[in-house]
Amino acid sequence: YQKLNRKKEGNAKLARAEEMVEELERTCASPLERLRQLADAMEVEMHAGLASEGGSRLKMLLSYVDSLPTGDEEGLFYALDLGGTNFRVLRVQLGGKEKHIVKQESKEVSIPPHIMIGSSGELFGFIASELAKFVAAEGEEFQVFDGRQRELGFTFSFPVRQSSIASGTLIKWTKGFSIEDAVGADVVEELTAAMDKQGLDMRVTALINDTVGTLAGGRYYDQDVTVAVILGTGTNAAYVEKANNIPKWHGLLPKSGEMVINMEWGNFKSSNLPITEFDRALDEESLNPGEQIYEKLISGMYLGDIVRRVLLKMAEEAELFGDTIPPKLRVPFILRSHDISSMHHDISPDLKVVATKLKENLGVINTSFETRKMVVQVCDIITRRAAQLAAAGIAGVLKKLGMDPSSVNHQRRVVAIDGGLFERNKVFKNCLERTLSQLLGEEASRFVEVTLANDGSGVGAALIAASHSQYSRRGEL
Ligand code: BGC
Ligand code: MG
Repeated sequence: YQKLNRKKEGNAKLARAEEMVEELERTCASPLERLRQLADAMEVEMHAGLASEGGSRLKMLLSYVDSLPTGDEEGLFYALDLGGTNFRVLRVQLGGKEKHIVKQESKEVSIPPHIMIGSSGELFGFIASELAKFVAAEGEEFQVFDGRQRELGFTFSFPVRQSSIASGTLIKWTKGFSIEDAVGADVVEELTAAMDKQGLDMRVTALINDTVGTLAGGRYYDQDVTVAVILGTGTNAAYVEKANNIPKWHGLLPKSGEMVINMEWGNFKSSNLPITEFDRALDEESLNPGEQIYEKLISGMYLGDIVRRVLLKMAEEAELFGDTIPPKLRVPFILRSHDISSMHHDISPDLKVVATKLKENLGVINTSFETRKMVVQVCDIITRRAAQLAAAGIAGVLKKLGMDPSSVNHQRRVVAIDGGLFERNKVFKNCLERTLSQLLGEEASRFVEVTLANDGSGVGAALIAASHSQYSRRGEL
């Protein structure tokens, strides 16, 4: 009799868990109609952000990049890429039109967590010392032009208000960085001071966002690349805008008549976004509450933690993992986006990968098949929502560029995308591409291509450093 009761109770819990998954599905639902409205809202905000400083949550930052690579760039250039949990240093020997990239070397260094929340001096000191070591190991096959100072493109993937191609002040931190005394400081000055301390004779000739680097890196190989998107730890987009469409810009008109705009779309927000209680809690407990709302629904830094929050509630209310709640499920960010990706892509009939991941990451043993299936469903709902929302953003940018189902201007456009989420999560990538074609419609889709621009931003920084070299004449966009 007792056994029977327990079974009944178990069934009730299971039913409750299933109900919760269904509810999640409902609140995360992003039907095409809603995505169209979001694309429209993105376009509206783009206009507002270009019209006046502070006109929108979208900062639509001027990059001062008015010429993208042509392929003629030549010489040895360095790049430094800071923006996620790692930073990278690169040296690239550019060989001009014929040879393109002759040789390239890079080194990746992970940033100690205490440095991400320490002081500006510590951060830039750490970076400069790693850079100095890297420069010291330069081989003879790399050649700086006679008597020239080494030059560096600095990819700094946070919102920066620039006043020229090689200067800009940090507006705010994102993605888990929080270094008070760097906010408002000129990051090129900070880096230059730290390089001087290391005795490193090198000049920063370009300061760029990773989206701008990706655009440059993409353009180097394909002249139709007009939009770049990052879908990694954070998310953002940049594109080429006509100077005439930037009312807030009162500076000299560039010869090209165009400028790259760093949208900072991670800060986009709209009442149409499918936001759940889990997203709200994540935002409230984050380092930057109220900020980067779109980013918190989409990017790799957050997806795992949204899933964790859902699973925690299911454990509490429906005993998803038995009658005790796994303590690790209460630890923020214990599930990473690559964890949920591997559970999501588990094709074994008994969901073995899910079982292992739950055990290794959360200390949960002996899960039932039903439980594992529900975990996969949760990963699926959160991942697809992210991909669909990202697709809506891209559709909005393309619309701003005149690419719209109702007015196709028969011009090939390429969207270069970089970032681990897009590169490594197949469900995410496929869902994004499919949703984008649906939003663009059949006719417009024929002219839009999405490509993976792997490490565009590092090489892109070297290319922009080259085209803005103190020794060379400027190219054209
Ligand atoms: C930053 C952007 C950056 C993006 C991708 C966001 O958090 O605000 O500047 O481009 O992450 O790295
Ligand atoms: Mg990057």
